[in-house]
Amino acid sequence: MHPSFHPRLTNGPFDDPGLFIPFVFQKRALLFDLGDITGLPAKDILKISHVFVSHTHVDHFIGFDRLLRLMLGRDKNLALFGPPGFMKNVEGKLAAYTWNLADKYNYPLSLQITEVHQDLTLSRQYRCHDRFKPLKDAVQQPFDGVLYEEPAFKVSAVILDHQIPCLGLSLKERFHVNIIKEGLKRLNLEPGPWLSAFKQALYNRTDPAARFEVATTGPAANKIFTLGDLAHKITRISPGQKISYITDVVYSDINKDKIVKLARDSDHLFIEAAFMDKDRKLARNKGHLTARQAGELAARSGAKQFSIFHFSPRYTEQEDLLYHEAREVYEKVL
Ligand SMILES: [Zn+2]
Ligand SMILES: [Zn+2]
Repeated sequence: MHPSFHPRLTNGPFDDPGLFIPFVFQKRALLFDLGDITGLPAKDILKISHVFVSHTHVDHFIGFDRLLRLMLGRDKNLALFGPPGFMKNVEGKLAAYTWNLADKYNYPLSLQITEVHQDLTLSRQYRCHDRFKPLKDAVQQPFDGVLYEEPAFKVSAVILDHQIPCLGLSLKERFHVNIIKEGLKRLNLEPGPWLSAFKQALYNRTDPAARFEVATTGPAANKIFTLGDLAHKITRISPGQKISYITDVVYSDINKDKIVKLARDSDHLFIEAAFMDKDRKLARNKGHLTARQAGELAARSGAKQFSIFHFSPRYTEQEDLLYHEAREVYEKVL
């Protein structure tokens, strides 16, 4: 299977946490957490359409300014999600700058800010042309665990305990469309941008009898199929990819249950491991996991692959010990 999402941590394990998730063959990405993102090239940052912030401790939110700076003056609708109080945090950031010329931009940036509570979300829009003053009241909607959804995927969240509310996040592709190369060959079709449109039509549950036109690159005429016939000849459907992200959480029974449920059967779980297990008292005090606890949660949730990050600087040059501790318990529990 060629995965649709290619997640990568934005920094090394001792630096600010964050997960950049670009979509294959699309100029688009999601971002989980918004710490220092200076290591991400501008062209990658500009692909981001939705940002999910676990909590607003400075190491998870200081990248907001760089994101804003790069997106300003562009015709973009950027959505940001965060825990209770997130709207105030964003307003505080925006209030730090002078916006008297903001209505002169030809291409207006718009921010859609959503904060997540136990059973509801609150959303508000802040537009560059309005000098980022919210014009309307926040819109309230029920929250059932799914924070954002498109035909092809959804992002779920749970509120975890970090001595403050902190979001655990999971991205799930609805199903995965594998393109069979031999099928393409048999029909004499070249892969191209039309494949994205084709997959999108499948996710949109378009009528299988609908006409689908494959744009050819050469001088030959475009080829016409019915969607169902083409899907039958060139695709194989398999379960969708799942990527989960857990950071800054205390190892409590309630957190453990919520994490295992959210991250169940992830293809890749990214999970913090700030401390070694010999320092677990310190970890508990600071609302963090140890490498052993991270490895155990990865195994218990049935994650096929897991990566640990967010190491305390006290283990500088000892990161092998953290990787080893997590891996050992993962293999034992599994
Ligand atoms: Zn924190
Ligand atoms: Zn942190």
